This record gives sequence, C-alpha cells and structure tokens, in this order.
Amino acid sequence: MSKIIASAAIRGAHKIVANAEEKVKKAIDKHGEKQEIGFPNTGYYLPITYGITGKKVENLKDAMDVIGMCKKLLPPAPKANNPLPYLAPALDAGMVNFWATEVAEAIRYLEDPNYYAQGEDPPDDKLWVGAADDIILRKRGVEFVDGSAPGFAAILGAAPSPEVAKNIAQELLEKSLYVFMGGQDEHGNTFSQQLRDAGMDIGWSTRLVPFSDSAAAGAAFAVGFATRAAMSFGGIEPGDYRKILIYNKDRVFAFAMTMGLVTDEWYAQGTGVVNYGFPVIADTPIPEVLPTGICTYEHVISNVPHDQIVAKSTEVRGLKVTIAKVPVPVAYGPAFEGERVRGDDIYTEMGGGKTQAVELVEMKDMNAIEDGKVTVIGKDLKDIDPGTRMALGIYVEVAGRQMQKDFEPILERQIHHLLNYAQGIMHIGQRDIAWVRINKGSVEKGFALEHIGKILHAKFHGDFGSILDKVQVTIFTEEDKVKELTEKARGMYKTRDERLADMKDETTDPFYSCTLCQSFAPNHVCVVTPERPGLCGAYNWLDCKASNEINPTGPNQPVEKGDIIDKTYGVWTGVNEFVKKASRGNVESVDAYGILRQPMTSCGCFEAIAAMLWTCQGFMTVDRDYKGMTPVGMKFTTLAGTVGGGAVTPGFVGHSKFYITSKKFLSAEGGILRMVWMPKKLKEEIAERFNKVAAELGHPDLLDKIADETVGVTEEEVLAYITEKGHPVLSMDPLM
Ligand code: SF4
Ligand code: ZN
Repeated sequence: MSKIIASAAIRGAHKIVANAEEKVKKAIDKHGEKQEIGFPNTGYYLPITYGITGKKVENLKDAMDVIGMCKKLLPPAPKANNPLPYLAPALDAGMVNFWATEVAEAIRYLEDPNYYAQGEDPPDDKLWVGAADDIILRKRGVEFVDGSAPGFAAILGAAPSPEVAKNIAQELLEKSLYVFMGGQDEHGNTFSQQLRDAGMDIGWSTRLVPFSDSAAAGAAFAVGFATRAAMSFGGIEPGDYRKILIYNKDRVFAFAMTMGLVTDEWYAQGTGVVNYGFPVIADTPIPEVLPTGICTYEHVISNVPHDQIVAKSTEVRGLKVTIAKVPVPVAYGPAFEGERVRGDDIYTEMGGGKTQAVELVEMKDMNAIEDGKVTVIGKDLKDIDPGTRMALGIYVEVAGRQMQKDFEPILERQIHHLLNYAQGIMHIGQRDIAWVRINKGSVEKGFALEHIGKILHAKFHGDFGSILDKVQVTIFTEEDKVKELTEKARGMYKTRDERLADMKDETTDPFYSCTLCQSFAPNHVCVVTPERPGLCGAYNWLDCKASNEINPTGPNQPVEKGDIIDKTYGVWTGVNEFVKKASRGNVESVDAYGILRQPMTSCGCFEAIAAMLWTCQGFMTVDRDYKGMTPVGMKFTTLAGTVGGGAVTPGFVGHSKFYITSKKFLSAEGGILRMVWMPKKLKEEIAERFNKVAAELGHPDLLDKIADETVGVTEEEVLAYITEKGHPVLSMDPLM
C-alpha cells in the first residue's frame, strides 16, 4: 500500500477515535455508564463491532470498552520523520475507524433519536435514513443471497452535478446494484441530494439508499449491513471475523467510490472497506494501490472519469451482470421494482379503485392461440391526454404440453414483478384489484400498452419455458371489455380458491416441502400442507406442487405422509423422515399443528410469529409490520433474531398470516380459541376470514375479545382485558 495512503488512513482513524471517545465521555457524564445505547430494531448490536469482535455494545460502559479496544489496535500516528507504516497497520486503522464510528453513531441515536428518518424511505423533508433495521436486512439482504442484487456501490461525497450523479446512479441500477450513499464533498454537496434534485426517488425501495451526511457513518452503515448479512444469511458466528471478511470478499460484489477531495478520514474509511475485499475507486488523483496478493481486491484506483467510473468499478470487482433483454423502449431489470410513479409524473393510472383493472392467465389448447401475438383493444397511451385514467384488462393465454390448470395462478402472480421491472411502470395488487401507473418519461420514450404484452411474452418464455410453448396477450382498455373480462376472471378466481379451500390435510397425500430458505438457514424446512402454507406466506400447497412439476429437482419436493403417529399434533412417519434428512439430522420430529412440544423450524422470513403467554395460558402473534413491544417482552425483530435461523424453539413458531385463519392453526393446543393478543392492524387485515372461522367454532365475537397494543403490551394488561371480556381461553384446561 502506498505510504501516503497508509499514513493518511492512520491519521484519519486517530481523529475518528478521539472524536468518538470525547462523545462517549460526555454521554457518560450526562447519562451514566449504564445508559443503554444501540442502533434501532436490531438483534446485532453495533454490527461491525459485534461481527468482527463478538462484543455486544448495550450501554455506554460497553462503548467505552470499544474505545479501549480501538486504542489498543490503532497504530501510532505517523510523525514526519517516522518510518512510514505498511499495509497491515493501515487496515487495522480502517477497522478501528468503523468501531469508533459505530459508537459515535449509537450516541447520536441516543442524543437525537429523530436525526435519521425511520422506515425504508426518507420523507420529503428528510434526506438520511441511518442504519438499516433487521426488517430491512431480511427483506433486502435476501436479494444479495438469491442474486437479484449482486452487491452494492458505496458512494462517499458528491458528483460534480445532479446530472452526473443521476447518470452514475442509473448505470449502477441497471446492473441491479444497490447504491449506498454517505458524506459530502468539499463544497457541502451530497450525492443523495443531487439524485433528488435530478428527480429521482431515494430510499431502500429504489435501491438508492441515503445513509448519512457523515462519510464515516455512511461507510460504517454500508459495511455494517454487509457484516450482518454474513451473520444472518451466511450463518457465521459473531466474532468469527475471518469468515465474515471472506464471505463478503467472495459473495458480495461491493466497491466504494469516492467523489471529491479525499480527506484523511476518508482514507480511513477506504482502508476499512478494503478489509472486506471491496475495492475503492476515486474520481480524483490519489495514490493507487494495486493488488499485492494479500487480498484479491486490495485495490485503490484513482482519477477515473465519471463516464467510466461504473464500468471501471464493476471491472475491478469482477462483476458479471446479466441483464434480461426484453423488447421495450425503457430500461428493464429488478432494480426498478421498487420505483414509484406519483404526482405530476403520472401519465396514466389504471385501477386502484378509481377504474377497474384486472389480470388473468388462462390455459388454452395449443392450436387455439398464436405465440407472441399482442393485441390492444381500446385506446392506447398515445390516444389519451396525460393525466387521464383508463380501465385495464390484461388477459394472457398460455399453452404448452406441460402446462396445467394449476399453474395459472402462479404465472398470473408473476405479472406483478415483471411489469414493475420496467422503468417508469408501477404495478400494485393482483387479480381484480390490480393497479398500474405509467409515468410520462416512459411514454416519451415510446412505451405503449403493447409493451406490457411483449414483456410478459418474453419473460414467461424465459422463466417458464419448461411448461409453456405459446403466450398470447390481449390488453383491453375499453370499459365494457374490461368489465366482461373481470366477470370471467372472478368466476375463475372463485373456482381456484375453492379448490384449495376444499382440500384437507387428512385426505391429501403427498404434502410438499420447501427448502428455499436453506441458503441462509441451513437446517430449515417448511412442510407445506393444504391447510398450512409456508411460513413466509408466499407458498401454499398448490404453489409447491406446481413448482415441483415445473422444476422437479428444485426446492419443493413431494413429502409422502407415511403412517400417522399423532393426529392431534399432526405427526407422520414420512414427514419426520423427510424433515430429518432435509435438516441433515438436526430435526427428528415436528408437530405440524402445535407450538409447545416440537414446532416446525423457523427460518427468519415468517410473516408473523406466535408465542406462548403463560400467565394468560394463551397465544399471541405478531407480524412483521408491527414495530412496537409485545406482551412476550420482545419486539418482532428480537423474536425473529431469537427464533429464526432454522431452529426448533418450543413455545415459539413462525407462520404465515393466512395460517391464523386455518382450522389447523395450533389446533393441538386450542387454536384461535387461545389467541389472546395480536397487533390491531393485523386483526383488521384478517378480520373477514377470522370471523368466519370463529363463528364456526361458536365464538363469532372472538376477535373483539383479543387484546391488542391499544389495550396493552404486558401479560398483566392482556389478562385483565380477556378476563373482563370473557375470552374463551378462561374456560379451557391449562396447558401445563
Ligand atoms: Fe419456502 Fe418456507 Fe422459505 Fe417460504 S419460508 S420460501 S415456504 S422455506
Ligand atoms: Zn424463510
């Protein structure tokens, strides 16, 4: 490593550690050593510190310990006449800089809890979102695992203009990368504000993540995210720093870009990033570091022009990008999935309650349709004034030797993300509550309604070529025609729903497995039955069956039930054999319908998690969207951190929201008649189905007797409420 960089990085780290130490001291004077600190909603404490050293920072005393660790590892500041340091001390300085920055940021969260915006995307009056919480980690991190996002670019500073920033960001997005942003250039400009000024939406949902106005925090939040991904998805133990660094070097395609004057502190961030095997690319002339063999990507490349910076970065990092080519005049790829279309930008809006929009996939005979034919019936985009609403019907007819009626809903569900992948097109909902917005920019580029058909034709062939040979698409905007299609579709939805609703576990064999989540929870297996969908809510029995037929060696395998061992708890010899094998011997037996003895494993992407409340002798369940405290004394994220990972945890089980209203929901121990607490919004969401099942059980008003956060978040408050309401659990036998 260049001596200039090494010295600068060490000087920078000294400043950062000194600054953090001062902050900790001041905070201790003000709040005392026992004051709790941390990043919001995470089970990973200060993630880099926790991942690399195993140290859990829970209070200010722990923070002081970390400062001590920093000082111990930090090489002495280079003096003018000192022999200059070489690589290792600079890398140590880079690492120490992250720990100290995390401590300083934890104190910022303590002193100014509203400094950063909460949630995925900043509101218009805020720019920075701060550290990602565990919900974002699970949702977004899995994209790094399944390859839909190969990695991220961490940008420090600002581009020379909003236009240049926009071009760079768009180029990165087209490669499906996340863009993490932090810091300001020497003029006080920030990349995030530049993107906003150029009219781009920023936030996690557009993959343009504005972490912090501080470069140190921006880099630490980005690297903290990568560190947590290694622990969460790679199953690496906190403190196993070697594995964490190697996981990132090998699996996360990340690099840092510095834009503008590089300060000593930035050099410290840069060397910190190099520790993880991420190269640093600068737009200014700084000394370069080329590979020395110590780590593959130990690179600093300097003075790269802006129109080449993305190409250079991906080349240095060795990123191979495959962009799905579909014949449309706008950019297309997963990076555009979260992009919103709103306000003045809307060219047309279809569905969403204002007009009818519907989509239907139907199987046809091979000879009845023509592959690739796209017809638009009614007005097209060029025929209407901007701002006009239209009705919309998307009717996809498919045929193929391997095609089955059961695959229709699976193909239909793809329409959502396949349309969202197109830049400037937003798709929400499904079936007869679809909602599509198209922005002005894409219409200017020549986007027309036939392109919806072209996208579906190309992608259906690409992704489902094994089951279909022909795809024909008709787009309706004529109101009468849309109405006609809607009626036809409703009839078909009903038949589909009844088909699964009529199926019973008792009379169905085989069940299906799902092991999709083993990529990050190696012992996890979902056994999916007609009455018990996978815990993520995305796979029901029919989906698994179809997926197995489409891809026979894939993650969904038939599970022969074998002999019944316990009817009440839902235990079968065949299921146990399968689970034992699929969990590599870690799980020998599971209860499909129980929580207390040996519930199914939970991976981490469950929609909700149920827990036993002993004082009430009942269950609570909490879903991912509820961020507050629960009567079991833990928030959803803590529960997910404790129970996830593919373990069997008696007393806790992850499940889909739909499963709550299945008659088999924890039926071994009393089912919904024992449900005593749920978040209010979840109650509202499932009310219709819940009330139906409750009525069948003879308790039509059960939902009102179930407490929620407006009643309280302690077992005592819940008990008082259910006692007052005469909840049926009170007359049930105690469980233990
Ligand atoms: Fe499959 Fe279960 Fe993971 Fe859902 S949670 S993807 S059903 S393994
Ligand atoms: Zn999962």
